[in-house]
Amino acid sequence: MIKPDQAPEASVVPFAAPRKTVTLIPGDGIGPEVSDAVVRVLAMAGVPLDFDSKAAGGRVFATGDATGVPEATIASLRRTRLALKGPLETPIGHGAKSANVTLRKLFETYGNVRPIRELPGIETPFSGRGIDLVIVRENVEDLYAGIEHMQTPDVAQCLKLISRKGCEKIARLAFEIARAEERPSVTCATKANIMKLTEGMMKRVFFEVAADYPDIRAEHMLIDACAARLVSRPESFDVIVTTNMNGDILSDLGAALVGGLGFAPSVNLGDDIAIFEAVHGSAPDIAGRGVANPTALLLSAIMMLRYLGMGEKADAVEDALMLTLKQGEDLTPDMARPGSPPATTRGFVKRIAANLGPAGQSARGHLRGGVAGPLSGVGTARSAPSATVEKKVVGIDVFLDSGLSPDELGHSLERLAAQSAFGLKMISNRGTKVFPSNGAETDLVDHWRCRFMMRASDGCVGDAQIFALLSRIGKSHRWVHVEKLQLFDGKPAFSLAQGEAAPAETPSLVVAAD
Ligand code: NAD
Repeated sequence: MIKPDQAPEASVVPFAAPRKTVTLIPGDGIGPEVSDAVVRVLAMAGVPLDFDSKAAGGRVFATGDATGVPEATIASLRRTRLALKGPLETPIGHGAKSANVTLRKLFETYGNVRPIRELPGIETPFSGRGIDLVIVRENVEDLYAGIEHMQTPDVAQCLKLISRKGCEKIARLAFEIARAEERPSVTCATKANIMKLTEGMMKRVFFEVAADYPDIRAEHMLIDACAARLVSRPESFDVIVTTNMNGDILSDLGAALVGGLGFAPSVNLGDDIAIFEAVHGSAPDIAGRGVANPTALLLSAIMMLRYLGMGEKADAVEDALMLTLKQGEDLTPDMARPGSPPATTRGFVKRIAANLGPAGQSARGHLRGGVAGPLSGVGTARSAPSATVEKKVVGIDVFLDSGLSPDELGHSLERLAAQSAFGLKMISNRGTKVFPSNGAETDLVDHWRCRFMMRASDGCVGDAQIFALLSRIGKSHRWVHVEKLQLFDGKPAFSLAQGEAAPAETPSLVVAAD
């Protein structure tokens, strides 16, 4: 356990508030350097925190622990419900899961909140525009559920899972942050025009939740248009809420607008747990040289102090940091100004320390997006699960690994299905209908989606009929996965292929392209 008052520079402000323990995960690369810097600054500001230092990430993977997050780290977080975390390295490619994602999922930190605000003295092409927004990213679902399968040796698949509950929680969190910070609008950014069921769910649920916040303007934008507006008119946003992958990309774009990843703080929020971290990675190119910029982690720690109700301490530390950035001296190499020699991380920390107290107040201007207080209940989905009256299976999609041509495959499958409850409706290749051909010039791969619909329009397919068809197909072809095609309350719960005609009773179900 590291006590702040054991840090070399002495505390200058007496402790008053009850002490809290924070799990400190220094992490990899520059992680230990920037966490050490932050612990020092907090100590000098007299923040009543103790740090329980625990391992995770690259050095844990290196010991053979495939999770990257040891039991002792998990136990500490279960106790403290609060962490300050440095960057964690994930081996790229096969095998180990990201330790970051493991932590997020283990503690259901469903919301990633990243405030993006122009900082004093940090010159960017956007300086002076008054950028001040918060990106609220869904943090556990979407493609980051990490459910991937090789379908053939040359075709990979990742499942994009989006739940109504997940959408409702993140939308509610975004509106609560907007309300708490008196921000007038929330923008939901999705790709609902293409992924009507997954991204579309986020858009639909967002507007349902918006009805509970009539004081806040709710708007929807397509994610690509949102990215363009973030660059052309970033000052026009207040809060952006989005799905996991979109949010991952958008929030790094946002960080770049105000100076880059070295200045971007964040928090991963659950109902009664919060993991604060800098957005940047372990910067292996500068690790161990004592020149890392601790600003992003310090800004994350300032958010943490506000979350803990230590607003005055947060203000004091933030004022000192802002003044230091404004002064433009003793800055680490990544932010050093022309004519001012770069400092080490320690030199930068010393300058911040000197600016603690009355001096710093001249730089007042707080980073919003710091969520005040634990968010118990804020992100709880309030609506009941959908009361589906009737679920009816009307067909199946059978995915095949095959080197045949569309016509060879199509005629073979038609023959195999002839005596079954199903008829072959179409075959698509990477989402485009190729059998019967409508002339699409598709560059074919060896992975096929073969859509079988039941023949009787008023019937319902049972498992026995599905097994019978699969067994017949399996004798001639290699099937790799199967999806049931369902109607929920009479409405299709599946998408159409590009070029596939909508069933007569569901004319609204079409595929769009951008
Ligand atoms: P990176 O953010 O580590 O580095 C990108 C560039 O920014 C480098 O040139 C680096 O020197 C610089 N940089 C980053 N932070 C800095 C700081 N605080 N001060 C000064 N310069 C800084 O990104 P990367 O190289 O893509 O990733 C390196 C490793 O970090 C990878 O293993 C990746 O998986 C991991 N990573 C972890 C997290 C996390 O734990 N949240 C986030 C991103 C990347």
